[in-house]
Amino acid sequence: MSRTYTCIVCPEGCQIAVEGENISGYRCKRGLLYVRQERENPTRNIATTVRLTGGEMPLVPVKTASPIPKDKIFEVMALCRALTVPAPVKKGEVVLPDAAGTGVDMVATADGI
Ligand code: SF4
Repeated sequence: MSRTYTCIVCPEGCQIAVEGENISGYRCKRGLLYVRQERENPTRNIATTVRLTGGEMPLVPVKTASPIPKDKIFEVMALCRALTVPAPVKKGEVVLPDAAGTGVDMVATADGI
């Protein structure tokens, strides 16, 4: 079975073809590692916002502290949509620990005042 991946590691966007154990089309080792990761355990970082109460701002930006399994993205996004945190929030503060049982925290990427 063959499949083509678009490498998202850099803006070049190489088309990397996988046919059995043969992998071609990558221009650097990062692309090869990306495809191997995609085949074995695809992960992504998520950046979004959560509601903030009691402050001046309505929302605070957050992101995953490290990549999470791709199949957990919708679950984590749903938790973030349902989440409201009280102001103030400091940049780097954990707003959602162990998001959806991934072992990865959602952290604020800016102060929420
Ligand atoms: S294979 Fe290398 S050059 Fe090509 S998109 Fe991926 S990181 Fe960029």
